[in-house]
Amino acid sequence: MNRRQFLKSAVFTTIGAVVLSACKKVATTTKSLADKVATRTFLKGKKEEISLLGFGAMRLPIIDGVETNIDEKKVEEMVAYAMEHGINYYDTAYIYHMGESEKVMGKILQKYPRESFYLATKMPLGMIQSKQQVEEIFEDQLKKCKVDYFDFYLAHGLNSHAYETFKKYEVYDVLNKKKQEGKIKYLGFSFHDVPELLEEIVSKYKWDFVQLQVNAIDWEMVNAQKQYEIAEKNGLQVIVMNPLRGGQLSTLNEESAAILKQANPDASLSSWGLRYVGSKSNILCTLSGMTTIDQLKDNVNTFTDFKPLDNKEQEVYKQAIEKYRLAGAIACTGCKYCIECPVGIEIPKIFMMYNQHKNGTKFRDWQFTMAYEQIPEDHRADKCINCGLCKTKCPQKLDIPNLLKEVDTLYKSLK
Ligand code: SF4
Ligand code: SF4
Repeated sequence: MNRRQFLKSAVFTTIGAVVLSACKKVATTTKSLADKVATRTFLKGKKEEISLLGFGAMRLPIIDGVETNIDEKKVEEMVAYAMEHGINYYDTAYIYHMGESEKVMGKILQKYPRESFYLATKMPLGMIQSKQQVEEIFEDQLKKCKVDYFDFYLAHGLNSHAYETFKKYEVYDVLNKKKQEGKIKYLGFSFHDVPELLEEIVSKYKWDFVQLQVNAIDWEMVNAQKQYEIAEKNGLQVIVMNPLRGGQLSTLNEESAAILKQANPDASLSSWGLRYVGSKSNILCTLSGMTTIDQLKDNVNTFTDFKPLDNKEQEVYKQAIEKYRLAGAIACTGCKYCIECPVGIEIPKIFMMYNQHKNGTKFRDWQFTMAYEQIPEDHRADKCINCGLCKTKCPQKLDIPNLLKEVDTLYKSLK
């Protein structure tokens, strides 16, 4: 059954959620489908129904810990489950899994009717050195993904640095031309910077959607609320990245987890985070970078017969997040954009271990030192030469060299 037939035969149940845009005053509804994840209407498009849960292809299962060695069999099973449960938005990028994510997703998705899914990928602004290269990468992506058009296409990771590249090499013009040629249906960008820059970018160019980092931590701490409001004011629906902050909100710490478990013993921590995001009515799709079929099943469960957080739940979740924030975890999402460190410091792994110790979710003191010593000596925090390269790559703007010093201090104090 293709998407059109599926939508025709499906019974929609409206469960509310009016989208209010300050300027446009447009309204849409969340639709809940029996045995399928909820959908929302893409208002800038042809009123397509997009699944509120999107399949992120950034953290696919891998073999032997090798980033480029994607476990295709597992991904195939996950995609089959996702399709069966109504997930129709698939998000990859040129740089995910060092170029392999697009290839694997293209290979697997080609087994499904082209009109049964929406495929999104992104132009890697951090790699661009000429206008010609933008053309070449785009054409390469079509080949890798085995498609002749992309439904959603994004300028990847606009921030103040990438914006200079974006302007210098006229990336918008190239992509807009691809749109005119029918190779891109909807054009947008993902964004990691201050609200003022977001205002500028949405006012200078014509966009169909925007991808923002929205989750309970970033909402107040990192201006996500302001960014969401700018998108809404400009009539742009939001695709959400990192709704669980790279897994941080799936584990939290013991105290925060206990608050949520007491409020609802059956709900997973991830389901709280995803419902928090999905409760915001201008969200079109929530991307989750799932690594296992169990994570996928849990997320599908959350978005089937989707229920926004009610006022009481909002209050409980706020309390739990506040406790977590005070525990002082490093705000790393595990995106791995920093892995090209010249001395091979295993930054995301080191920060993850630090957080798991800090939050008491996995490591007690001795467990932390034991796990940390599994990292080859040459790749540990104290070998950082402070070159600063990683800082230019980190979308979370983390002061990585200084944070590494903190980890090193912790390790030495526990040894
Ligand atoms: S500052 Fe340190 S961790 Fe960052 S890239 Fe340079 S050596 Fe690697
Ligand atoms: S340190 Fe920054 S770039 Fe590196 S994995 Fe964490 S969030 Fe991503």
